[in-house]
Amino acid sequence: MESGKSIDIKNTKNTKNITNITINIQPIGYVNRKILEFLKEKLRHFFGDSEILRPVEINRFCFDSLRKKYISTCLLKSYPVAEITLFVTEHDLFADRLNFVFGEAELGGKRAIISLYRLRPEFYGMKDGELFRERAIKEAMHELGHVFGLMHCRNPSCVMYFSNSILDTDRKSWKYCELCLAKLKSRGIKLNL
Ligand SMILES: [Zn+2]
Ligand SMILES: [Zn+2]
Repeated sequence: MESGKSIDIKNTKNTKNITNITINIQPIGYVNRKILEFLKEKLRHFFGDSEILRPVEINRFCFDSLRKKYISTCLLKSYPVAEITLFVTEHDLFADRLNFVFGEAELGGKRAIISLYRLRPEFYGMKDGELFRERAIKEAMHELGHVFGLMHCRNPSCVMYFSNSILDTDRKSWKYCELCLAKLKSRGIKLNL
């Protein structure tokens, strides 16, 4: 599908009806290039612009040796950002009392993070590249929704629905529901969906 192709949306007229927001994608350590390119193309289309930044080293101080996972809140605070930034890691994350998290974000802030670790069908003994990409864009849109001030939504098919497990992620769509879209619009954010 889109992965691997480089489409420069900036040079097209595609962005006229949307808020032109740049979403920087910041890989933490090694991250699969294909999925980064896929996210970039999607986010460019939805928000106006997106760039993949050079990978940063993972902050080892954020590793919890007992749980053998990284603390998402710690990673989120580890790197300075200029613009809205989606951090992407291959490592497993957890936060507070949650055993694991797919991601975390600063509500109304600039930073969001997603982990690919539990999004891979291989983690559940399956193989499906399409499903992996779908899950990644859902988690990216969910955490970016928080960055734009959205809270969790009660509509199970809305991307802002809280994913307790991968089943919730698979059940919901990658889109914001009408209610969430209206909230974004009232904040001046118009997406190209
Ligand atoms: Zn959430
Ligand atoms: Zn919603």
